[in-house]
Amino acid sequence: MTSATPSARPSTHLSEADLAAAPAVVLRGGTVLTMDPQRTVLEGADVLVVGQRIEAIGHALPVPEGTVEIDASGGIVMPGMIDTHRHMWQTAVRGYGADWTLTQYFVWNYLEHGRKFRPQDVYAGNLLSGLEALEAGVTTSVDWSHNLHTVDHADAAVDALEEVPGRFVFAYGNIQAGPWEWSASPQFRDFVERRMTRSDMLGFQMAFDVTGDPAFPEKAAFEVARELGAPVTTHAGVWGATNDDGIRLMHEHGFMTPETVYVHAASLSDDSYQRIAATGGTASVASESESTCGQGYPSSWALRRHGIPISLSMDTSVWQSADIFSAMRSTLGSDHTREHHEAQSANQTVTHLAVRAADVVEWATRGGARALGMESVVGSLEVGKKADVVLVKNDDSPVMFPILNPFGHVVLQAQRGDVHTVLVDGRVVKHEHKLVGADLGKARRVIEETVEHLRSSLGEEEWVAGMNPEIPESKVLDNPYTYTEYADSSTHTR
Ligand SMILES: [Zn+2]
Repeated sequence: MTSATPSARPSTHLSEADLAAAPAVVLRGGTVLTMDPQRTVLEGADVLVVGQRIEAIGHALPVPEGTVEIDASGGIVMPGMIDTHRHMWQTAVRGYGADWTLTQYFVWNYLEHGRKFRPQDVYAGNLLSGLEALEAGVTTSVDWSHNLHTVDHADAAVDALEEVPGRFVFAYGNIQAGPWEWSASPQFRDFVERRMTRSDMLGFQMAFDVTGDPAFPEKAAFEVARELGAPVTTHAGVWGATNDDGIRLMHEHGFMTPETVYVHAASLSDDSYQRIAATGGTASVASESESTCGQGYPSSWALRRHGIPISLSMDTSVWQSADIFSAMRSTLGSDHTREHHEAQSANQTVTHLAVRAADVVEWATRGGARALGMESVVGSLEVGKKADVVLVKNDDSPVMFPILNPFGHVVLQAQRGDVHTVLVDGRVVKHEHKLVGADLGKARRVIEETVEHLRSSLGEEEWVAGMNPEIPESKVLDNPYTYTEYADSSTHTR
């Protein structure tokens, strides 16, 4: 601390060069949601970032010479959000499956067209998905990369992640082969050695599902993960795909660990939840996905009953964008819906809600860090932690005042367009609502090439049909009342 407040430069019209050259950044006068274990909230407070780390949090902080000052007044400063499960390669076909069920998703991606994705298509999807995450204030994303049918695809995926100044965990997977096959290949081992150096900017997991086959062929892949020290992330409790048998097999063979992430963890029995809870694992809840696709009811209600820690995820931009505001809102809504429904089924009334807005903000931040074993690095605004910081502020929006309940404001009022500034590892990657130094033109170009490739290899008819699945016949129930009789009778009585 060499000088006091006045030496800081004002935040208006900072150039990219100013931001890049800044030795320190201070966000001044915001409502700070620290998300520390006490969930401390500070009004009108500053967050000072020096280098990669949070140097100080408090009021009217003195700052070093040359510090860039960002006016956070009227805004909310919070930790960067964390998405623990997103199939980033699929962002290349953003929104294509808006009307799909999980069955249609499986058929299109796994059986029919997943193999048409070339390495450059995985690169394109990842590049766009990574930029999109930063733009939405999601500073850490798990790339659940399950279409790596060659190692060239994996190299392309990681090339894209390394190009985006976000924090990522690369979860290696391949739906086109059994996990016991791809994890045994020398090319996979070589890739891990070459590319998975495991910094806190790029972590490593192995991504595969356990089908419940009594022969438990996935055992070999778990052994590779154990040998490589790689946490396993697995779609568990997915209606019609993975079930209690998979959990039981993992448990009986000793592969359930505190690092294991159970994605969805819906449609499971109490016995499975107890096995997860007892072995210290965490669950990644993707409420919007579960609500649309049918993995099972969004699981936070069930997970809470068993004391299983929760993180949030978006799953895939085939349906949803990388927007954790949306995940928080959807998770809070589905948890409350379940709570009311369970009570009303027993002819009771919920008078006090169990889950609060602050809980889902925690799941979106600290909960994600915990799931990824990064709780000492990110997930909260605390002195000494890496500076992944989001400023939610939009002076042009009538929705940004008054801010009375800041947790409720983040979850139920704010949205991705209100993300004003984002820092990752101390670096400003978004400022005044615009990504800093991002080449969107390049991202658009590579995505257009991928869409063109997929569209021409499917053929126009198949491409259109894939996006427009048939609607099943539905019948409006018989009704003993009719409008005409009602209208007639009311005329007579007048
Ligand atoms: Zn998934």
